Amino acid sequence: MSSESQLRADIVEVGRRMYARGYTASNDGNISVRLGSDRLLMTPKSVCKGFMAPDMMCITDLEGRKLQGDRDPSSEMLMHLEVYRQRPDVHAVVHAHPPIATGFAVAGIPLDRAVLAEVLTTLGSIPIAEYATPSTKELPEAVRKYIKAHDGMLLANHGALTSGADLYAAYYKMETIEHFAKISLVARLLGRENLIARDEVDRLQGLRGSYGIKAPAPICADPSEALALLDAGNPAMCQVVQAPEGDGQRLVPDVIGAGAPSLAATSRASDGTHPPRRAEAVDEIRLTYRELSTLIADAVKNLR
Ligand SMILES: [Zn+2]
Repeated sequence: MSSESQLRADIVEVGRRMYARGYTASNDGNISVRLGSDRLLMTPKSVCKGFMAPDMMCITDLEGRKLQGDRDPSSEMLMHLEVYRQRPDVHAVVHAHPPIATGFAVAGIPLDRAVLAEVLTTLGSIPIAEYATPSTKELPEAVRKYIKAHDGMLLANHGALTSGADLYAAYYKMETIEHFAKISLVARLLGRENLIARDEVDRLQGLRGSYGIKAPAPICADPSEALALLDAGNPAMCQVVQAPEGDGQRLVPDVIGAGAPSLAATSRASDGTHPPRRAEAVDEIRLTYRELSTLIADAVKNLR
């Protein structure tokens, strides 16, 4: 266990990194760590995380009562307290608004497709906790649904939350989420994602132990059943990962397109045929180069 002065310095450093990487703007975000068995060290309300000093931090008990510090604890303290209550293994909590991941949270698109081996072995998937008014009791309630099974989640129309066995572990998960969101966005802009097949996802999950990764829950054996349980209001007991059957292939091409059949529908094709490619969607429009040039020329003319 690190000393209190070391933990204060670590919080300052993580805040500086989050601000430098654009994960927070202005006074956004908050950070906390366990200080022994019954106290927390936490960032204060209304300070920029990029310019903190070690003596700014607050010490609270696990009920959120302030024990020490000139400033009041973070406005999102209730969310932090809920994570520690639900997860005795967690020693640090980080909350920020990294812009690409938060874009997914605003679009209502969870980061749950089997795309990157490293994310599958570490976080599994990143769900979206339902929208809740920031700094109210609603937010810990929304987080409670996912926190037993996930070390990282998006918060609908708000940001992201990560936890870990120490402060840097929690912070690096925030980096992983934003990096994953960036890569997912680029792949989707390019129009396709090659997805990791279900068998390979199971193989990657098997590697968690050998990497020393202690995931809070396994990857769901049946994602559609797990999603139905979540929709019925149950807390997550496993990590939903959208991975198609590979029919012997470890990567399965999946073309992103409007009006295309959903992955869930295609991956459940049980008749042994390859799922339909999304490019075959009937509402695709094809233009010749000449037709496209004429359209662009008309558009430019209308602009003038
Ligand atoms: Zn926030």
